[in-house]
Amino acid sequence: MRALQEKIKQDGLVLSENVLKVDSFLNHQVDPLLMKQMGEEFARLFAGEKITKILTLESSGISPALMAAMELQVPMVFARKRKPLTQDSDMYTAAVRSFTKNETNKISVSRSFLNGTDRVLIIDDFLANGQAANGLIEIVNQAGASLAGIGIIIEKAFQPGGRELRSHGIRVESLAMIQSLKNGKVEFLEEAYAK
Ligand code: 5GP
Repeated sequence: MRALQEKIKQDGLVLSENVLKVDSFLNHQVDPLLMKQMGEEFARLFAGEKITKILTLESSGISPALMAAMELQVPMVFARKRKPLTQDSDMYTAAVRSFTKNETNKISVSRSFLNGTDRVLIIDDFLANGQAANGLIEIVNQAGASLAGIGIIIEKAFQPGGRELRSHGIRVESLAMIQSLKNGKVEFLEEAYAK
């Protein structure tokens, strides 16, 4: 997505060879117009998949997931990272190792909001090693729901998550694919191919 790439080039901060900071439009302050365009793009990519629910992970997945849900006219459910007040038996749960923080979170979704009749589109902000995506897939599987695919805003293609998910036959659509964050510069995959 051209508008997203331009935004990343303009406002993204390369924190290290592995981490990109996009706090000014996605992870802290949120650009609503860009979120809307991304929601429309996810809806276009997964049109015809008979999606009944969008699943994401709090907190940064929520804004793009909501915009996609609005376009597809289905509910959006976000997995919680904090321990909920309800009993564990009422929840689907999975362990997710955080890429950016050195901790493992138990993520959870109420059994009331996902079941065997659902066809789910997972949406998240970043794809790195695939831990978050795998935790969400585990929740889809526990619910007996079917997975239509995964929509990612920024995939870091030099990390293994996307490759591994696709090798299992899972459809992963990323709106921006980063080839490298070396030398403090964002290089997109197509720029690397063009060299
Ligand atoms: P994974 O689970 O695929 O290893 O990492 C994905 C999760 O880690 C995302 O939900 C996102 O919150 C966080 N993450 C991974 N890489 C980055 C990054 O470069 N920048 C930011 N801001 N978050 C990241």
